[in-house]
Amino acid sequence: MDYADTPEVTQLRDLLRRFVDREMPREAAARWDSENEFPREVFRKLASLGVMGLTVPEEYGGAGRDIVSTMIVIEELSRRSLAVSVPYIMSACYAGMNLVEYGSERQKRDLLPRVAQGELLFAYGLTEPDVGADLASVKTRAQRVGDKVVINGAKRFCSGAEICDYIFTLVRSGEEGDRYRNLSVVLVAPDTPGVSITRINSMGMKGATTTDVSFDNVEVPASQIFGGDEGWHRGWNMLIGSGLDVEKLEVAAVATGVASAALEDAWAYAQERQQFGKPVSEFQSIRHKLADMKTQLHAAKLMLYHSARLANAHQRCAVETSMTKLFAAEAAKAIALECQTIHGAYGYVKEVAVERYVRDALLIPIMGGSSAIQRNNIYKWTEAGM
Ligand SMILES: Cc1cc2nc3c(=O)[nH]c(=O)nc-3n(C[C@H](O)[C@H](O)[C@H](O)COP(=O)(O)OP(=O)(O)OC[C@H]3O[C@@H](n4cnc5c(N)ncnc54)[C@H](O)[C@@H]3O)c2cc1C
Repeated sequence: MDYADTPEVTQLRDLLRRFVDREMPREAAARWDSENEFPREVFRKLASLGVMGLTVPEEYGGAGRDIVSTMIVIEELSRRSLAVSVPYIMSACYAGMNLVEYGSERQKRDLLPRVAQGELLFAYGLTEPDVGADLASVKTRAQRVGDKVVINGAKRFCSGAEICDYIFTLVRSGEEGDRYRNLSVVLVAPDTPGVSITRINSMGMKGATTTDVSFDNVEVPASQIFGGDEGWHRGWNMLIGSGLDVEKLEVAAVATGVASAALEDAWAYAQERQQFGKPVSEFQSIRHKLADMKTQLHAAKLMLYHSARLANAHQRCAVETSMTKLFAAEAAKAIALECQTIHGAYGYVKEVAVERYVRDALLIPIMGGSSAIQRNNIYKWTEAGM
């Protein structure tokens, strides 16, 4: 079952699977992880499939806004390697979706055709050393000086800053008292004078390395205020707008991709591994684990594609997308750990892929709004009748 069963979607999934088998072999995925490498050449080939334009309207050179198909691409790439799927998100979603929703007309005209060609990656510079879930408290400051914006401050856990074209930087653009009103987003190229980037040695999600980024009197043209002049002081609306629903789904698609890979490997291993004269899959305790995980994964995928259809149709889906992110992230973590258990001692060995799936899966409930934050929002928004 492919969970979104139109012929076009099935065709897209088949195309992606052939691409992954051909261009992203298992050994390469293991190498990108161990060497913390972004395979730019593979990314270029991915762009030639036309999938970068799935978030870009036709008038800007894309294929039209198709959230279901975008999730399929993220899921299929994540089944093999986050070193390709995360840069895909940085291009199609962080750049494409945000530009479509909130870019100025000039930014759309200049940048969206490049997104559709796979030539533009945005990194998210939201989190700071003292600011995690409470993003409205960011301290990085931006001042308008003539036709420039001057930025000072620091971002933490900015993934992909080394490989991106612009850091989508959330800044405080006015007085601190006005918590939600005086925030803006500024696009900062990572090679702008005054920007320094230092790697953080994280457990997983290798390839789009996560980093510390500091801004020391960084000057950028005012034309790089996201949304143009009208975007100044409107950063909070951009963060909590409909783009947030899709962002939760992007993470859920990473979750179902990683969990699918872990379950496929564990299923095969349970058939191959013999103990007490028979495959370990003959033991009821192992079978039940596999059956439970298949059920959890099936539920996560149904939620993902249901929410993606709602988002695609511009229907209100804040609660549905939060439930999807919460369920898929927690399911992926549980599934990866259980698959490691099925692999026994081999699940603890670097050369066996399930070790990587565990490291990647542990991140999923943390990023894109933690499970605690999703639970808060599901309650709060349901009470508010959303
Ligand atoms: C590998 C990696 C990559 C990342 N990439 C990016 C990136 O590209 N860009 C970016 O901006 N950020 C990125 N992040 C940061 C990530 O989005 C944050 O970790 C996340 O937003 C949570 O912030 P925090 O970890 O500082 O937790 P905190 O906000 O400090 O929270 C600590 C704990 O308290 C809980 N908590 C906080 N507030 C509440 C509340 N109101 N109710 C209940 N519980 C609460 C949290 O769930 C958590 O368990 C990345 C993180 C990692 C580890």
